[in-house]
Amino acid sequence: MYTRGLLSKTSTTALNDVSLKLDESEPTILTVAGESGSGKTTLAMLMLGFIAPSSGQILYKGQDISRLRGADRMTFRREVQAVFQDPFAVFNPFYTVDHLLTVPIQRFKLAKSKREARDKMEEALTAVGLRPEDILGRFPHQLSGGQRQRINVARALLLRPRLLIADEPVSMVDASLRANILETLRSLQKNYGVSIVYITHDLTTAYHIAKSIVVLYRGAVMEAGDVDTVIKRPQHPYTQLLIDSIPWPDLSRRWGETDIKAREAEHQEITTGCKFYPRCPFAMEKCTVAPPLFQLGTHQAASCYLQDQHPTIPSEHLWKLLPV
Ligand code: SF4
Repeated sequence: MYTRGLLSKTSTTALNDVSLKLDESEPTILTVAGESGSGKTTLAMLMLGFIAPSSGQILYKGQDISRLRGADRMTFRREVQAVFQDPFAVFNPFYTVDHLLTVPIQRFKLAKSKREARDKMEEALTAVGLRPEDILGRFPHQLSGGQRQRINVARALLLRPRLLIADEPVSMVDASLRANILETLRSLQKNYGVSIVYITHDLTTAYHIAKSIVVLYRGAVMEAGDVDTVIKRPQHPYTQLLIDSIPWPDLSRRWGETDIKAREAEHQEITTGCKFYPRCPFAMEKCTVAPPLFQLGTHQAASCYLQDQHPTIPSEHLWKLLPV
């Protein structure tokens, strides 16, 4: 999948000059990290085809997803699945879990008999660490938040996706279950060859699950690369600010979003230059012109003039730095 997009609504640009590419033959987990307003959910909506870019393209297997029709469109709908933040949203309180899982099986004609459909449901539930006998036949109110979110993952898995867009999948789940669900996602990537775009505001979970990371701020890429390198040796002042606010090493606690939002509120000016300019302690005059991406090593790039001793890299080549 390749995206290069810009989405604008009145005078607000949600995403600007963001290019990513995932290789089907090398399934990986890529984190897109940022605070609210960074454009990360817009990116998820674009990749799922729920909204269209005002310029640029979203390609899936070489085809523009906005032009997919008929069987190609059904294939895209089946192979690119989503798991969203709210594990309760997709459940109708009047139907059992069986109904939720049967709908995609029928829609995509995945089984020829009730027995086969049941086998597929059981296989998917087992794959996400649930015991089918504990889950099937139950109503939503009889399940925990963690169980519901894993059922959502199982529902996506039923369709044998090639790509899973997981948008804040653990942010509404109890801290005790968070690591468990992340481990489930990781096993899907390993055992089923599913690539995952993990969207989060929480760098602690990103560090635990992903191979590579793209840090967004106000719709622009600030830093990207190998997750270990970016989190242990961040080179962009914004990433450094985020890392400094992480309450290491406790996975059950959240990244200090409140502090960051409070600082953000003090600086709402619009700048045509570096998006981080209003908050940056190192801001210089030249930062009023948007910085390019500088390649800092084999697997790291930052969009900041403090790194201008390094060569620049076109944004459309950024994906080449992301390890799989
Ligand atoms: Fe700060 Fe300038 Fe770097 Fe932006 S380009 S992060 S304003 S030093």
